[in-house]
Amino acid sequence: MTTSSPLLPNFVGGQWIHGTGAGTPLFDPILGTELARVDATGLDLPEAFRFAREVGGQALRALTYRQRAALLAQVAQVLQANRADYEAISVANSGTVKADTAVDVDGGIYTVGVYAKLGDGLGDVFHLTEGDAARLGKDPLFQSQHVAVPTRGVALFINAFNFPSWGLWEKAAPALLSGAPVIVKPATATAWLTQRMVQDVVNAGILPAGALSVICGSASGLMDQLQAFDVVSFTGSADTAAVIRSHPAVVQRSVRVNIEADSVNSALLAPGEANAEALDLLVKEVVREMTVKSGQKCTAIRRIFVPEALFDSAASAIAARLASTTVGNPRNEAVRMGAVVSRAQFNAVQEGLQALKAHTEVLFDGNTLPLVDADPAQACCVGPTLLGARNPDNHPVVHDVEVFGPVATLMPYRDEAHALALVRRGQGSLVASVYGTQADDLARIALALADSHGRVHVISPDVKAAHTGHGNVMPQSQHGGPGRAGGGEELGGLRALRFYHQRSAIQASTAVLGAGVAPATAKA
Ligand code: NAP
Repeated sequence: MTTSSPLLPNFVGGQWIHGTGAGTPLFDPILGTELARVDATGLDLPEAFRFAREVGGQALRALTYRQRAALLAQVAQVLQANRADYEAISVANSGTVKADTAVDVDGGIYTVGVYAKLGDGLGDVFHLTEGDAARLGKDPLFQSQHVAVPTRGVALFINAFNFPSWGLWEKAAPALLSGAPVIVKPATATAWLTQRMVQDVVNAGILPAGALSVICGSASGLMDQLQAFDVVSFTGSADTAAVIRSHPAVVQRSVRVNIEADSVNSALLAPGEANAEALDLLVKEVVREMTVKSGQKCTAIRRIFVPEALFDSAASAIAARLASTTVGNPRNEAVRMGAVVSRAQFNAVQEGLQALKAHTEVLFDGNTLPLVDADPAQACCVGPTLLGARNPDNHPVVHDVEVFGPVATLMPYRDEAHALALVRRGQGSLVASVYGTQADDLARIALALADSHGRVHVISPDVKAAHTGHGNVMPQSQHGGPGRAGGGEELGGLRALRFYHQRSAIQASTAVLGAGVAPATAKA
């Protein structure tokens, strides 16, 4: 291990500034080598937030939606041009195979591109209108028009370690399009990729000064900077989410907060489905979800529900596919699944696995297979593990514990009502997927699960080649879920812009409304 790795600078107040501390090291989770250090000690945070809020915010709000969309299109081009660097950083710092790197890096670039297109459609306007003007009395002269204007605050993002690229851009694209300046604090373990992407975009000189800042290292003091019109979007664990929610900025200053927390997502084979193709679709998707990014996706399938009669055949089909998953060094072309991002995460996965194993049976244990091209004493690799819980009612842990790794639990159900009740035991999830062949049944189940999920992904044989994947978050669809999932809402096309806008009802004469409030503006 070397101690001479570079200290990555922060970008605040329009300047690159190193922290004054020794820094926290970032490691290669396969080789154990130190890659870089991050540190935010000594930064003038009040000035950093003032600069973003006043200088960045003003410059962004002076542009129309279409002009800001054009900037996003340029950002996507810069990111695309530097993609090879991002892949190298991702392999080294996140331990991901190329396909998993693509989910994060290409997913982020694609999302920026989608918002560039959506924003172009909003046109050269400075605010959005919601609905039509409404009469407030008998006389039609006096009416109310709802408008949405960009917030005059800063958007602070506190992000999780598993998506250093996508996690930045899925939030930054709608924020910047809305006219809100962004300060991102990536999770320390994988901060390098976020920092490099911001560096490339800043160096390209696309965005106005103050529009995009990055602070790497401790989150200490960040929330204290937030003022009345700022917003904070957090992605991470429920424990940290609770700290954010109870901060005085939120409780006393009404800073708007969006929380994306953990989630025990489900896959459900529809009742009465003896159809082999439906089972096959479920098996493929479960295995993909368990192994992509070593299961470190907030949307990954953690619980699998099948009709009682199909428990054993589902178990053996999933196990057979998992058995062919090669785990090890992502630089080796034969490897399909790399590492979890750090020793701390490796330990957290082992701990969670033990908690689940105490109340389940092991149906497949990928940890008995050798790693490819990696030292098991050093590499943070976890084999895929399929568990089984034959009595899921009143189960003490399986509906509660999210193991953030390649682990899922198979469970049987008796009938549709039982299946829906078990899925809802997750207390609110980001996504559930449903597999089957009967359109009527699938529609009914999807609508039934909509009350407790931010997204319901339905896979039938007709869409087997067209569907986008249970765990893939598409910018056109909402991301976020109720209850345990944090209660947040992101993406969903232009719906994402609402978080970065203030809605106001303008009550005035039709002449005033017609003088620039209501007409010729884009609809929110
Ligand atoms: P975490 O420990 O809660 O950390 C998340 C972020 O919060 C990091 O940037 C962390 O910084 C920062 N942080 C830590 N303590 C803080 C504090 N007291 N005040 C303000 N910020 C603080 O979560 P994680 O372990 O990185 O992420 C894994 C979890 O995120 C999983 O449970 C997963 O389900 C969830 N997740 C959810 C989504 C979603 O969209 N719903 C997406 C991805 C992940 P440091 O890294 O410097 O500690």
